[in-house]
Amino acid sequence: MNSHHQDFYRIAREKMVETQIKARGIKDERVLQAMLKVPRHLFVDEALRDQAYGDFPLPIGEKQTISQPYIVAVMTEALELKGNERVLEIGTGSGYQTAILAELALWVYTIEKYEVLQERAKKILFELGYKNITFRVGDGTLGWEEVSPFDAIIVTAAAPQIPQPLIDQLKEGGKIVIPIGDEFSQMLVKGIKRGGSLHTKVLEPVRFVKLVGVYGFKE
Ligand code: SAH
Repeated sequence: MNSHHQDFYRIAREKMVETQIKARGIKDERVLQAMLKVPRHLFVDEALRDQAYGDFPLPIGEKQTISQPYIVAVMTEALELKGNERVLEIGTGSGYQTAILAELALWVYTIEKYEVLQERAKKILFELGYKNITFRVGDGTLGWEEVSPFDAIIVTAAAPQIPQPLIDQLKEGGKIVIPIGDEFSQMLVKGIKRGGSLHTKVLEPVRFVKLVGVYGFKE
């Protein structure tokens, strides 16, 4: 990749952050910096690179998608990461959200249902130099008991309700962000665990692919 390409993508990234992220009210400076830094175009197929900074999701194979940049920003900001958190991510997908989390937290544990997707994500994240990510292929609706509890949990696929294991594996004061609804439309929900139970609020309407698993949708 020559420097002309690098400039093209850097300018596209700056424009993305200005017009899609800042303009819509995202204020967390660390989130904005991470989105200016992470080369989103490397997380999509070569044929789609020039569209990587557009205001929409893109296909990544296995009928899955890389989330729209703005939605990545909303979900990440909702976690209020300061830098010392251990975060669980369900739905590695392209690995783009994983990179953003790795920029902002101490450690990221990420679970993906499809091995092919996770292998691709792992390779890119390794090449970009991230060393604070642990990967697992499996059903994320069960959480990751051995390395719990977590300061923050992010689910990037739609669930019919909040999977109980994820509530159990959240620390007191910990935050979870997850799209809840049916397979066609959902509401982004933020939960904070206080006194052992989850206090939730609705952020905004979203549309994600299905979270398929024991505590998610059936196959
Ligand atoms: N954050 C990703 C989003 C990928 S789409 C990105 O922006 O690229 C959602 C992902 O969740 C898909 O890769 C899908 O395979 C995965 N998924 C669905 N059900 C899952 C489950 N039970 N456990 C782990 N991953 C799951």
